[in-house]
Amino acid sequence: MTAQFPFDCSYARLPERFFTRQAPATVAAPRLIAVNHALAARLGITLPDDAAEIAQIFSGNALPHGADPLAQVYAGHQFGGWSPQLGDGRAILLGEVLAPDGARFDIQLKGSGRTPYSRMGDGRAALGPVLREYIISEAMAALGVPTTRALAAVTTGEIVLRERALPGAVFTRVAASHIRIGTFQYFAARRDTEALAALCDYTIARHYPAADGPLGLLDAVIAAQARLIAQWMGLGFIHGVMNTDNMTLSGETIDYGPCAFMDEYHPDTVFSSIDQFGRYAYANQPQIAVWNLAQLATALLPLIPDREAGIDSFTAAINGFSDRFDAAWDGVLRAKLGLATQAEGDGVLARDLLAIMAANSADFTNTFRALSGPDPRSARDQLIDPTALDPWLARWHERLATEPRAAVDRIAAMQGANPARIPRNHRVEEAIAAAISDDFAAFERLMAALAMPYDEDPALAAYAQPPSEGERVTATFCGT
Ligand code: AMP
Ligand code: MG
Repeated sequence: MTAQFPFDCSYARLPERFFTRQAPATVAAPRLIAVNHALAARLGITLPDDAAEIAQIFSGNALPHGADPLAQVYAGHQFGGWSPQLGDGRAILLGEVLAPDGARFDIQLKGSGRTPYSRMGDGRAALGPVLREYIISEAMAALGVPTTRALAAVTTGEIVLRERALPGAVFTRVAASHIRIGTFQYFAARRDTEALAALCDYTIARHYPAADGPLGLLDAVIAAQARLIAQWMGLGFIHGVMNTDNMTLSGETIDYGPCAFMDEYHPDTVFSSIDQFGRYAYANQPQIAVWNLAQLATALLPLIPDREAGIDSFTAAINGFSDRFDAAWDGVLRAKLGLATQAEGDGVLARDLLAIMAANSADFTNTFRALSGPDPRSARDQLIDPTALDPWLARWHERLATEPRAAVDRIAAMQGANPARIPRNHRVEEAIAAAISDDFAAFERLMAALAMPYDEDPALAAYAQPPSEGERVTATFCGT
C-alpha cells in the first residue's frame, strides 16, 4: 500500500510572510522506532505496510503526496525576555490533514533540518528528547488532557552533537494547530495589522468559529487555557517552559521539553534545569498563564479601532482568568476527592489535604489513587507521618456521608479522575538511556503501561512505584 495523507494545506495559503517554504532535509539511514497506527487511522492517513517505507516518510526522506512543507515564523517571550524572531528552527510543517470527521490537524516533523529560523541551531533533534515527547504527549492524551500527539519517531542514522554525540531522530507531531501566542506577537511587534487581522480570522475559523472578533477569540483562549492548566495541576504536571511561543491558541499542551510529573507533592517543585528562578514552578503555572494571555491581549489590541475601549474589555477578560481557573481547579479537586455535589468548605478540605501532603512528602499520584480505592486509609502509608492524615480522613468521610452517590459509584468515578500510572521521570529516563544503547524494550513497555492509566492492573504495579533514592531525577533538560 502506498502512503495516503488527506492533505489540505490551509496555512500555506496564508500570506507569504507567515512562513518560509522549506523541504525537510534528507537523512542517511532512517529507521522506524514507533508509529501510532491508532492515531493514523483517526486522521484518515494510510501508511505502507513496510517499516522501512514508513521510516522514509517520517524522516522527511519521502514527502507524502500533497504535502506543502514550510517553516512557520513566530516570536515569543522566553523566561520573560522578548525574542522578536523565533520560528520553526528545527521543525517543518508538512501540511494539514482533514480527518474523516472533518477535523483539521497539523502534521509536523521535528528535527528535520535547518530552516531560515534556525539561528545558531543545527535543526536536528536527539533521540532522547524525541522519545520524551513521544512518551509524555501520548500519556497526556491517555490521561484525557488536551495535547499535541505523537504520530511517529524514527532514528536518522546520523549523529547530533549536544553535550556529547547522540543518535539523531525525527519526531512527527500532530496538533490541532501550531498557532502560538508568539505567532500573534510576531506580527504585533512589526505593526503588521493586516497580517494580525488575517491570523485572527484564520484562528477563529479554525478553532473557535463561534467567537466574535479579537475579544471573542481572547475570551475563548482564556477559557481553554484555564481548563488546561487546572488539568495539568490535577495530575501534578509541570510544563517547565511556559514561554509565550510554547502556549497554543487551541488550548492544547505543546512542547514537551523539560516537563515532568511530580512524584512527591510540593507546590514549589521545579524540574527544568534552565528554570533557575522557579518561574515555571508547579504552583506558578496559573499566574504564568495570565501573564502569557496578557501578552496575547496586547498583541490583539491593534485590531480594536477604539483603543481605550479595547484596553478596558481586554483587561476585564484577562482579569476573568482567575475566576475561570478557580472554577476549573475546584472541579478538578472535587473529582479527585469523589465529590459529586458542591458544598461550602470543599475547597478548604482539598487545600488542607494538599498542605498535609506537602508537609509529609506524599507521592501526589499514589496518595489520590489510594484514596480512590476500597481502602482509603491506605493513603496514610504515603505520608512520612501517617497519623497526620487521620483528622483529615475523618472530615472527608463526614463530607462523603452527605453525598447522594453510592460508594461503589464514587470509587469508580475517583479511579477515573486519579490515575494509577503517570510517566514517572525515572521511567522516562530509563527508557531513553536504554534506547540510546539501541534497546527499545523499556520504551515499548513504558508506552504499554501508560496506555490505560486509570485501569487497575497489578501486572503494571512497578510503573506506579515512585523512584528509589538512587533513581530519583532532579532535573530535566530542554530538547535542544
Ligand atoms: P523550544 O525550546 O523547543 O521551545 O525552542 C525555542 C526556539 O529554538 C524555537 O524557535 C526552536 O525552533 C529553536 N530551536 C530549538 N532547538 C533548535 C535546534 N536544534 N536547531 C534550530 N533551532 C532550534
Ligand atoms: Mg517551542
